[in-house]
Amino acid sequence: MLKNNKVLKNIYSSYRHYKKGTLKLPYLPLALWIEPTNACNLKCIMCPTSLSKQKNIGSMDMDIYKKIIDEAKNFIAYIVLCVSGEPLIHKNLPGMIEYAKNACVKTTLSTNASLLTPQLSEKILNAGLDAIYFSFDGCSAEIYEKIRVGSNFNKTLANIIRFLELKKEFKHKTTAELQILIMDQDGKKDYEKNIEAFKEKFKRLPLNLIQSRQPSTWGSKLSSTAKYDFKKLGKIYSPCSYLWCSMHILWDGTAVACTSDFFAENTLGKFPEQSLKEIWNGEKYQIFRKAMLRKEYMNYFKTCNDCDSLWSETIAGIPPGIRGVMALSLCSIIGFDKFGYLKKIAGKLNPDFVIKVVETGKKYGK
Ligand code: SF4
Ligand code: SF4
Repeated sequence: MLKNNKVLKNIYSSYRHYKKGTLKLPYLPLALWIEPTNACNLKCIMCPTSLSKQKNIGSMDMDIYKKIIDEAKNFIAYIVLCVSGEPLIHKNLPGMIEYAKNACVKTTLSTNASLLTPQLSEKILNAGLDAIYFSFDGCSAEIYEKIRVGSNFNKTLANIIRFLELKKEFKHKTTAELQILIMDQDGKKDYEKNIEAFKEKFKRLPLNLIQSRQPSTWGSKLSSTAKYDFKKLGKIYSPCSYLWCSMHILWDGTAVACTSDFFAENTLGKFPEQSLKEIWNGEKYQIFRKAMLRKEYMNYFKTCNDCDSLWSETIAGIPPGIRGVMALSLCSIIGFDKFGYLKKIAGKLNPDFVIKVVETGKKYGK
């Protein structure tokens, strides 16, 4: 209860100090993205990790991970076990989830699910994962395999279905969502034609939500690729709100501002040499926050140029970055399965909202 009160207070503080443009923050981040590994088994067409040559590939050491959780458990609302790479490649992912669970830290995970064997599904569910997001871009093998290069539509779909069957059989509470990126006109046609049949595959399975959305530009890394249907950018500049609500730790302990900094181009600190608290209000974080407020981000991180996070649609003046983190922080208290309802409300408040909520698990009888 004490921690819930702290989370609620930090949700409000994040919003307030973002609006005020405070540089040194009197609270700690609500959410922590932790990268179990930056290795990946796929070569998705829209992903910067598959477009460039990674020089420094590795997996997070469990000792570093435990130290992060030991400090973060005192203030964090939830962690996301993914930055770049495929988290299922980490040899001890279930151990990471379990360690966080024992420390009362809520865990979420984003995966391409191609390596999700039934054994791994069982271990992850038993470890107490709170929410899993399957990245599954296409309702047909033709479109899916064109985007998720290296993956097999039927095999990966079977992995997800088995995961859901195990969730149902053993009554696990893990929220499960499936996310479809609509990359281009072909993807749109595929979606419109096949979504109903695709939904049927999850009949009577506890999939909480299917949602579709347009791709982001991954920072500016894909902005020159005209064939993709990127999110419509707004006209009003909003300083990047991630700097006021979240922190991202790469597999080797390097702290960066966001999930677009795959290659640590704008390092904001290093764990465990510095504590999370020291990094959060360290000189580099404060300088970068100031640069955001003055639109001088290019001096520090070129990826910000054209990044949709700076020009996205706002709802009640709140840009999507901090909005999503605040909503998920709230869900860490009321349940991650409620996120779909919050998205629906957001869609009603702003018709330009780009995420389309397709279905909730209610129909499928959780
Ligand atoms: S699975 Fe994820 S990290 Fe791997 S190539 Fe695809 S988008 Fe990139
Ligand atoms: S504006 Fe810059 S820091 Fe913020 S999400 Fe985009 S690339 Fe990352």
